[in-house]
Amino acid sequence: MSTDIIAWLCDSGHVATTGQLQRYFSVRDLRRARESGLIRRLARGIYACTHIDTPLALAAQTGGRLDCVSSLARHGVWSGLERPGLHLRMEPHQHARRSIPSAFVHWSGTVQKAHLLEVAPVDAVLQAIRCLGPDDALACVESALHMKFLSDDQLDLVFLHAPARLQPILSGIDRGAQSGYETFARLKLLRAGFAVRTQGHVPGAGPVDIIVEECVGLEVDGEKWHGPERFLHDRTKDRNAELQGMRMLRIGGFHVFDDWDTTRAAIRRMVTDAQRGLPARRPRRRP
Ligand SMILES: [Zn+2]
Ligand SMILES: [Zn+2]
Repeated sequence: MSTDIIAWLCDSGHVATTGQLQRYFSVRDLRRARESGLIRRLARGIYACTHIDTPLALAAQTGGRLDCVSSLARHGVWSGLERPGLHLRMEPHQHARRSIPSAFVHWSGTVQKAHLLEVAPVDAVLQAIRCLGPDDALACVESALHMKFLSDDQLDLVFLHAPARLQPILSGIDRGAQSGYETFARLKLLRAGFAVRTQGHVPGAGPVDIIVEECVGLEVDGEKWHGPERFLHDRTKDRNAELQGMRMLRIGGFHVFDDWDTTRAAIRRMVTDAQRGLPARRPRRRP
């Protein structure tokens, strides 16, 4: 019977209340499963299998729900450049079971019905855009859309419930951004006075992350390591874009966040050269 409980728990998101479990299993089944070590009691009335991740287990122990940037990070959505601490949601007037000194607790109600231990995506995003700085907030919403963490209907709810001070930030949403790195690169380019568009199609090369002044293609790679197939794909893409007269530059997070002045100067130089027709449109002859 223990294996039945585990299978049921796994199907239910690896966590359930005693009430939910007792609808399908006897008290004896539950005790046996606990004794076997296959399920554990996270807090009074809440059980989980061994697959439960640490942030959710901590949320259970406090009596709150995982919220804000911690929820985004758990789903691979942009949650700011810094590693997020533990952000939790407690209902107003709720009594915390246990306090975690390093946790940020947001005491407020929610817009949408929540999971047992985690707020709904709309609420996580609505809180994160308040907690993050303006550029990170925009990057978080664009990433949430790209990752399909937020649907279009849920985005409407974010607009509806976001405070007035954040509306100008939300109005800058560009659905072509595929990562927080791309959002930051785009914003920095706009502030440097460049005309940019995202996911522009270059014949033979496909979509390019950011096209600057219609003559330089910028590919912004995330942190993730790319395998040999991706390596070849990227080089072919760059070669084919160059064949079309589009100068290509491939940068990573370091070039956006830690070495922007040099990156901006390189892009400016490439744009100037391309606009003068050099060297992409007038290749030097071999001697
Ligand atoms: Zn499980
Ligand atoms: Zn927060």
